[in-house]
Amino acid sequence: MKLNVKYFQEFIKKNQELSFVIVLIITSVLLTQLFQVSKNQSTKEYLKVINNLYFQKTFTNVLRGFQPKYSRVKHKIKNNDSINNILKSYGVPKNEINSILSTLSKNKITNNIKVNDTINLIIDNSNMTISKLGITISKTKKIELIRDYEKDIFEKREIVTNLQRKTIFKEGKITQSLYRSASKQNIPANIIVEFARIYGFQIDFQRDIRKNDSFQIIYEVYEDENKKIFNTGKIIFADLNLRNQSNTLYYFDKKGDEGHYDLNGKSAKKALMKTPINGARLSSPYGMRKHPIDGFNKMHRGTDFAAPEGTPIMASGDGVVIKASWCGGGGNCVKIKHNSSYSTVYAHMSKFSRLAKTGNRVKQGQIIGYVGSTGKSTGPHLHYEVIFNGKKINSQTLKLPSGKVLQGKSREQFEIKKIKTEVLKSELILRLS
Ligand SMILES: [Zn+2]
Repeated sequence: MKLNVKYFQEFIKKNQELSFVIVLIITSVLLTQLFQVSKNQSTKEYLKVINNLYFQKTFTNVLRGFQPKYSRVKHKIKNNDSINNILKSYGVPKNEINSILSTLSKNKITNNIKVNDTINLIIDNSNMTISKLGITISKTKKIELIRDYEKDIFEKREIVTNLQRKTIFKEGKITQSLYRSASKQNIPANIIVEFARIYGFQIDFQRDIRKNDSFQIIYEVYEDENKKIFNTGKIIFADLNLRNQSNTLYYFDKKGDEGHYDLNGKSAKKALMKTPINGARLSSPYGMRKHPIDGFNKMHRGTDFAAPEGTPIMASGDGVVIKASWCGGGGNCVKIKHNSSYSTVYAHMSKFSRLAKTGNRVKQGQIIGYVGSTGKSTGPHLHYEVIFNGKKINSQTLKLPSGKVLQGKSREQFEIKKIKTEVLKSELILRLS
């Protein structure tokens, strides 16, 4: 009932003229009843009202309101859609389509629309012409064609979302996992993943991190006008404080040297990763153990990482795939040769990626396959081996061959960058307090 009253009020508000006429009719009915005018006369009165010019005008207006002059269309672009086809499907005449296409090409707006983007149209229902057409060109740019009714041409309008780069400082204690502690601080998920990746060469996230270790991070975000985070940028500074020892990394943006470096200008990137898998739990270290299937004590010459089936496995360093096939107890396995002395093996995969083909060059971090439990295995895990000069060695304690060390001019520039970053950090901390 409440809803009806509200609806009624809305109706009156929207159709003031019609409401007025209705009131008029009711009043005249009441009046004729009241004064007991003859039936004949009262019919005449009704007709008068109906024939009233004002009433007629209102009536046509109301009718027109039921069938709006313009319709708004949000068209989601499907495979094989073209602007031509889309407009045609809404009944836009051919000459109108041609004039839009020529305006688009004149303004160098190509017809390379993307699947799942939206095209916004305002169509004039009286002649099915386009009053407005909006296309998304990129994440931050939209183009609108608006009909200029006087000149009967389309005017182009560009709408650019202004993105502002902002740097954000966050710090926290690690109480459970780095991921949980960082997301409690509202650090975006891809920044946390990136944080884990840049430390992945030197830190074993399962064993090296203890309760009450802490982290600091400065990262970039891009915000639109509404302060909504549009995108995340780089990690400019990071520190992972493990048992009161700082592990600081600075981002250096010099062309050709881009990346994260420690205090001494040494690249965080090593030739090989300690953990070529994200979010895994180290389940069986290198060393003597009772084999879970064979049941007797045996040397385990690799490292096992338990992870859900299907978790992507990365190439731990640049190299050439020298095996991507079944290897008995190891199930589906991949072997990569990194240089004359180092190679790595990844076993028990559920499947290979398309990069895992004998003879293929792979880059560090590229996905070569997915966690499984093929071969001699009791559950989904990755068995990872590092082979140095033909001998299997412990990947977790191995002093990994280091990556780049900045020297000369680059080192000088890096030292300046370090100071600038420290200044930025203290500014950001001051702003917090
Ligand atoms: Zn193993």
